[in-house]
Amino acid sequence: MKRFAATLLACLTALSLTGCGAAQPAELSLFAMDTYMTFVAIGDGADDVLSDLSRTVNSLEASLSRTVDTSEVSRLNRDGSAVWDEDGAQLLSWALQHSQETDGAFDITIAPLVELWGITSDSPRVPSQEEIDALLPLVGYEHVHQSAYYNISLDEGCAIDLGGIAKGYASDCAAVLFHRSALTGGCANLGGNVYVYGTNAQNKPWSVAIQDPADSEGYVCTLSLSDAFVVTSGGYQRYFTAPDGTVYQHILDPKTGYPAQSDLTSVSVITRGAFDGQGTRADAYSTALYVMGEQAAVDFWRSQRMSFDMVLVTADGRVVYTPGLADCFNEREGSAYVYQPLAS
Ligand code: ADP
Ligand code: MG
Repeated sequence: MKRFAATLLACLTALSLTGCGAAQPAELSLFAMDTYMTFVAIGDGADDVLSDLSRTVNSLEASLSRTVDTSEVSRLNRDGSAVWDEDGAQLLSWALQHSQETDGAFDITIAPLVELWGITSDSPRVPSQEEIDALLPLVGYEHVHQSAYYNISLDEGCAIDLGGIAKGYASDCAAVLFHRSALTGGCANLGGNVYVYGTNAQNKPWSVAIQDPADSEGYVCTLSLSDAFVVTSGGYQRYFTAPDGTVYQHILDPKTGYPAQSDLTSVSVITRGAFDGQGTRADAYSTALYVMGEQAAVDFWRSQRMSFDMVLVTADGRVVYTPGLADCFNEREGSAYVYQPLAS
């Protein structure tokens, strides 16, 4: 229920910030990938673009979800090998690339541990150290083999979970649909994965709010953007509380097998460009940087030659952001957070 409320609020915030004006936006909401999603399209052919988007998202969910028995991912996890279509093969190759870049902080072979904890399932539980130790050797992207691009196989006992990246891939598909359309503007809000295209109904850049991890009704800043992905990961929406009161959030540290003990409460990654997997990249990075924590996230940003932007909300009340956002970053007036631009 909490997840529903928080995500819905994020959508409403995004919509109310975009407002409505002369060009009447067409809107569509749907529930897919365990997420409330909202799409807005402005201009010629808006309704057709929204139908295409909804078809695309539903078909990606049907093939990529680990919890849908008939999905391509479930089949691969069951059989150990599979031949995938273009979408699956492309997503997998990006997933492996980002696992490597992040030194396994993002790792799709986390699946056996995701299953063991069941944090987003109906029956989450705290496993024993023995259970975790038994599964840790199965985690590591080197257990996934992609040959001739479409042929995928897994080492014995391994399984994959694309939950940390599938919405990013869906937002990439949204970006391509927007760019190929006659729209003047569009916004795809896949609950924490946002892509904004062109301009809003007032012919202005879109305003994307980054939610306050400590207050489901508040936000820490807004970003004025066009043609950009904003992907947020955090521990504040999907979690469970154990009988002893300990809160376990859903992003796991592949090195320990436990929920990541991050000094960050949320990570937003901002990337630009519509045709080369920048939404997928932002989604993988946001999960990875949350696992890494503040210092390693900043080091990673530098090691990637600052080729993306980020907003880190720290547990001690700071909002740290990269210099590439200087022109579009708006602090929230009256906020108790301390805003810290990073030096380039
Ligand atoms: P959300 O799905 O809420 O947008 P993320 O993109 O951060 O959040 O993905 C978290 C999901 O990814 C988890 O629910 C789980 O399925 C999977 N996951 C958890 N830890 C990792 C990890 N370290 N690397 C890759 N995937 C992960
Ligand atoms: Mg992610």
